[in-house]
Amino acid sequence: MLNASEKLRLQEIDSTFLTQYGRAAEVVLRAPGRVNLIGEHTDYNDGYVLPAAIERSMLIACSPRTDGKVQAFAVNYNYSTLFSIDGVQPTSDTRERWSNYLRAMAWVMKRENFDFAGADCVIQGDVPLGSGLSSSAAMLVASGLMFATLAGSTIDPVKLALLAQQAEREFVGVNVGIMDQYISSLGKANHALLIDTRSLTYKAVPLPETGVSMVIADTNKKRGLVDSEYNTRRSECEQAVVILKQTYPEITALRDVSVAQLAAVEEQLPAPVRQRARHVVTENQRTLDMADALEAGDLARCGELMNQSHESLARDYAVSCRELDELVGAARSIPGVYGARMTGAGFGGCTISLVADTALEEFSQRVPALYNDATGLEAVLTVTRAAQGAERVR
Ligand code: ADP
Ligand code: MG
Repeated sequence: MLNASEKLRLQEIDSTFLTQYGRAAEVVLRAPGRVNLIGEHTDYNDGYVLPAAIERSMLIACSPRTDGKVQAFAVNYNYSTLFSIDGVQPTSDTRERWSNYLRAMAWVMKRENFDFAGADCVIQGDVPLGSGLSSSAAMLVASGLMFATLAGSTIDPVKLALLAQQAEREFVGVNVGIMDQYISSLGKANHALLIDTRSLTYKAVPLPETGVSMVIADTNKKRGLVDSEYNTRRSECEQAVVILKQTYPEITALRDVSVAQLAAVEEQLPAPVRQRARHVVTENQRTLDMADALEAGDLARCGELMNQSHESLARDYAVSCRELDELVGAARSIPGVYGARMTGAGFGGCTISLVADTALEEFSQRVPALYNDATGLEAVLTVTRAAQGAERVR
């Protein structure tokens, strides 16, 4: 179902579709962006994550074609692309590069034998581009759902997430985890999903239906060094597993190590591998604890766990930065904020705070001002509740 703002967006998309193609759009799909409540840098350690879909989405309106071609007009870029499904390649034309996610999905769905013969489409999104709320996953998942629908098929939502991940890895060439595609595809309104990234199963965990919102704040800090730091952390986690295997031969990833097991042999790990392992192992436990706290309706405990997560990411995992710390500090200074932490890979990007609705106004006024005083940067806020995952809406 569309929310009020999506309904308005769809009206514009429909009229754009008419102008572009001289006919009406028959099918409409939506897929949301996402935010991770807790469970950071646990996914590539086979651990748990706890994301929610947000009330920002990609909408695609389309009608079938029969000539093996896909034409798409991107409202956000005011630009069209046209490609043949057979032999589709990524484009390096900067004006059309946004279409690589659409091309990627056409490529992977064809490889999976979905039988579609082309489409005219208009795509439009209000997930901020490139700020860590996964506009790319929203685009992949919505596109996949479109091609399945045009093929007259249904698709299992976990399969859709896996295909979107393959598309991004193999066609776009970015080595991503499964979380973003998974939550965009399977998100549940008013719930976060506790996802086991090893088994790819999940448990829906209820968020309070009233009284509290998630507030995402973008630092607007341009990220540098993310890729090389990311690779370093991954290899430090692998080193930790190799050393810990001497004591615990049954483990294959940090996910298999309990907090107590790690504490017992911590000194065997050299710095900074020890600190990295400590973050991952404690964060994995915090993620499970947060799911329990949400089920118990214990928001104070949730906030505590979020705060601890930030401290662990900053000190032990060393992926925070001054801007994230300032923004988290500003959020925590507002009465009615249960907790705040960085969310996403780090070195910039966004924070997430759990905020009592009665505190939202003060938060919106004070936090950006405090942050601007400290850094000279503008924090952009997104207030959201947990939204439904991808769906066909027409
Ligand atoms: P993030 O996923 O954090 O938002 P990415 O760099 O992974 O950032 O993905 C952003 C890219 O996804 C854009 O550069 C564009 O290629 C594609 N994209 C996302 N939303 C749209 C949109 N509304 N229209 C066209 N392309 C989009
Ligand atoms: Mg992305």
